[in-house]
Amino acid sequence: MSEEKTFDLIIIGSGPGGYVAAIRGAQLGLKTAIIEKDENLGGTCLNVGCIPSKALLHSTEMYHFAGHGAEAHGIDLTNLSISIEKLMAKKSKTVDQLRGGVQHLMKANKIKVFSGLGMLAGDRKVRIKEKNDETMLTGKHIIVATGSTSIELPFLEFDGKTVVSSDQAIAFDKIPERLAVVGAGAIGLELGSVWARLGSQVDVIEFLPAIAPSFDKDVSKMAERLFKKQGLNFHLKTKVTGLKKSKGKSILTAEKDGKEIEFEADKVLVAVGRKPYTDRLGLDVVGIETDDKGRIPVDIHFKTSADGVYAIGDVIPGPMLAHKAEEEGVACVERIAGQAGHVNYKVIPNVIYTEPEIASVGQTEAMLKEAGIDFKSGKFNLAGNGRAIATDATDGFVKVTACRKTDKILGVQVIAKSGSELIASAVTHMEYGGSAEDLGRTIHAHPTLSEAMKEAALAVDGNAIHST
Ligand code: FAD
Repeated sequence: MSEEKTFDLIIIGSGPGGYVAAIRGAQLGLKTAIIEKDENLGGTCLNVGCIPSKALLHSTEMYHFAGHGAEAHGIDLTNLSISIEKLMAKKSKTVDQLRGGVQHLMKANKIKVFSGLGMLAGDRKVRIKEKNDETMLTGKHIIVATGSTSIELPFLEFDGKTVVSSDQAIAFDKIPERLAVVGAGAIGLELGSVWARLGSQVDVIEFLPAIAPSFDKDVSKMAERLFKKQGLNFHLKTKVTGLKKSKGKSILTAEKDGKEIEFEADKVLVAVGRKPYTDRLGLDVVGIETDDKGRIPVDIHFKTSADGVYAIGDVIPGPMLAHKAEEEGVACVERIAGQAGHVNYKVIPNVIYTEPEIASVGQTEAMLKEAGIDFKSGKFNLAGNGRAIATDATDGFVKVTACRKTDKILGVQVIAKSGSELIASAVTHMEYGGSAEDLGRTIHAHPTLSEAMKEAALAVDGNAIHST
């Protein structure tokens, strides 16, 4: 059966890019439809990404504290145990609640939701295939928000059992004795931490010489030292070469300094990044060509080369982050509605939700050096912060980097408990072009970890109060 429907705005994909764009469209009076091929709305972020991983990080952090920190507070938790079934059920409950929330938002904003695979059909039409049904939509504007999927290594193909992506590593039904993680970026470190806290022996294998390589060197170094203490075994400058079976066991092979090394592993999590997802989307039908990384090229207003077709989120260039996708969704729709939507790519925060958390915004010192920009930095160690001492959060530091000439903040790096929350004030200051002095003179409540941000800003000119 086939039917045809007309909308002002059609969005393909219901991740944070797509569903937020849909809501903004409805708010601006556009008759909006959203198409999702998976069972649930919310995309990677809600179903297999940000949310389930953070739920697991939270549960396992509590378990780790119960086993390793509680005693010092006089809390006796002898016979501590964990049920992986209940842990996963708790995670699923969180995800379900938020799925319901997105459904509710669609309904409340009168957004028409279509289930099925959305395919660009030319002439501003989108064909939806759902089992034997086919629906044709016509839209004045079409936004592609089809997101991304895990990158597979050619010599280490996903089998969903031994060699897995994050999709499976957030849902193991038992704790692997030995977990090998390929890649020491955000996903590798977060999920490596989850399973290490639950008792897995975790080997993290990274080709580059540092973990969390997109952060400043001093942040990566401290993270490596702290996570080692938590049981993560790092193998840097090491290139994974394949997987073999020996006496019924899976052995991950790798190369370091020309020598072959082996890691026995029950599970191998390949976390080497994500690639744009455009399968069966019909890009060729409308004449859109992807770039060398499979991304859809867009102009500054998110327009693709096809008339009336826009793209946002993980499927276009830029950091693959949920908040980046959301902002692009809002800006793209505002442009469509004749407003001045805009994304400030210079101040997109980046966070790894380990313990402590790693967060940054703006340029790293390495980037500034390469660009020949004269800068000054101020650092404040959490060990000098009263709240950190009172709450066992003294590991880490905040660093503010500013232009030597103008004092304008150019970058902020944080490794600290709740670093994801601390970075927010730096993002705001940078959004408004603030200086290190502005941030240093801003009153922060006492006692809070956020005072470390103020102190780091003061330290830029050697004026931190609680530094020795
Ligand atoms: P997606 O969320 O990928 O959504 C795309 C949607 O489009 C999907 O639902 C897909 O099924 C649908 N779709 C695709 N093709 C079609 C089609 N043809 N028809 C219909 N539907 C289609 N980011 C953060 O900012 N913070 C984090 O803490 C974080 N943690 C993460 C942890 C993990 C384990 C992973 C994997 C990712 C994490 N991310 C995190 C990244 C984040 O999930 C993505 O950046 C974000 O989801 C991108 O949003 P999007 O809307 O562009 O695409």
